[in-house]
Amino acid sequence: MVPNYQVIVIGAGILGLASAYHILNQARGLSLLVIDRFGGPGLGNTARSAAAYRDMFSSPLNRDLSRGSIAFYEQIQETGTHLGLQRIGYLWLLTAQQAQASREVLDSLASAEIEFDILEVERLRQLLPDLRAGDISLGLLGRNCGILNPNLLCRFYEQRVRELGGKFLYGAAVSGFTLDHDGRITGVEAGGQVFSADTVVVAAGAWMNATLALAGLEALVLPRKRQLFAVAAKSGTLHGLIHSPGFNTYGLLPFTILPGGAYLRPATGFFILGYANEDQPPGLEDHPLAEADFFEKRLRPQVERYFPAFEGATPQYSWAGHYADHPPDSLPLVDRVAGAIVVGGDSGSGIMKADSLGRIAAGLYHGREQVELGHGRPFRVKDLALSGRSLAPERLII
Ligand SMILES: Cc1cc2nc3c(=O)[nH]c(=O)nc-3n(C[C@H](O)[C@H](O)[C@H](O)COP(=O)(O)OP(=O)(O)OC[C@H]3O[C@@H](n4cnc5c(N)ncnc54)[C@H](O)[C@@H]3O)c2cc1C
Repeated sequence: MVPNYQVIVIGAGILGLASAYHILNQARGLSLLVIDRFGGPGLGNTARSAAAYRDMFSSPLNRDLSRGSIAFYEQIQETGTHLGLQRIGYLWLLTAQQAQASREVLDSLASAEIEFDILEVERLRQLLPDLRAGDISLGLLGRNCGILNPNLLCRFYEQRVRELGGKFLYGAAVSGFTLDHDGRITGVEAGGQVFSADTVVVAAGAWMNATLALAGLEALVLPRKRQLFAVAAKSGTLHGLIHSPGFNTYGLLPFTILPGGAYLRPATGFFILGYANEDQPPGLEDHPLAEADFFEKRLRPQVERYFPAFEGATPQYSWAGHYADHPPDSLPLVDRVAGAIVVGGDSGSGIMKADSLGRIAAGLYHGREQVELGHGRPFRVKDLALSGRSLAPERLII
């Protein structure tokens, strides 16, 4: 007997989990199985992220996706499930040229009621005595932005899926699909077994192309390697910099983006430093590793230029993962392909949009034209479809 499920979700990353939860939450009693090759939830790129969130995007769709998700995560945390959510803000440090070039985006953020402040350089110097301001002409402080704990978020969704009767198969890679005469996906092969499904949801993240290729389907995303480096900040100037009062109620430095694109993410006793270099050739590495050379030659020079306290700093540990870029516009996709639902292409900001994408995937599954996002705003399901797509590309990519 081939086990049959109404829904099989490939991928227990944040997108697969959020999709599974919203599909089940809207139709309790469905039989649903989540399959992942790893041994637990969120161990793919979700675990490798900087885990920051923001609603400051140039694309109105991206803004809605993240605002809806942030509102939902805040509500979950307020009602007693700790997600490590800290609204510490995002601080963009901009040169005069960048500030000028960003005028239009800033105007659109203001008219979309995105909460942000402009900090003149004198104010930045007061707040950050260790900043060597150089060519920085202003700071842009996003308020509805911060950091969270992706492991806690994944555990939250996983538990809810289990409570709603969903099942999990961990440690099983999907190695093939079963197809009907028209090439539509009818099931999966995983862990040496075949499972049939009325609907398969492919939420395989950066492995989306490799997974779809098993059904002979074309690539949809562009995996791009990204690296993060943890520099100890348990004492001295770096400790003082993490604990910079005046920006938020936590007395922490916001997630800070430097003019060259490198960023500093505060963590407990550490700074996590990253730089999403645009010249990184696309491609998926089996075992991506962070490179010492990249830290020393590309990343640290940007950081020590503005924060001399990082001079000569070496990372205590480091790791690498992949963004799943969606090149035409860097906006996510949710659509049906060969009968399956694909969710992905979140271009390096999937955690902060995951709840909304899960709702949209559920809307597509349940045949809805529109869904309500976590902040109560409607979203048209077909806006993230692949066909007939013509969306303004996202300009605020980190
Ligand atoms: C360095 C870095 C920094 C980032 N920083 C941020 C950030 O600050 N904020 C933010 O919102 N986002 C950030 N991101 C992006 C974020 O991590 C992703 O957008 C998000 O994790 C995508 O979730 P996912 O569920 O699509 O992918 P994943 O978490 O990778 O999950 C996909 C899952 O599918 C499984 N899978 C794939 N193929 C198969 C198969 N054939 N069989 C079985 N299982 C399979 C994998 O094992 C994996 O668990 C960052 C990413 C990186 C790499």
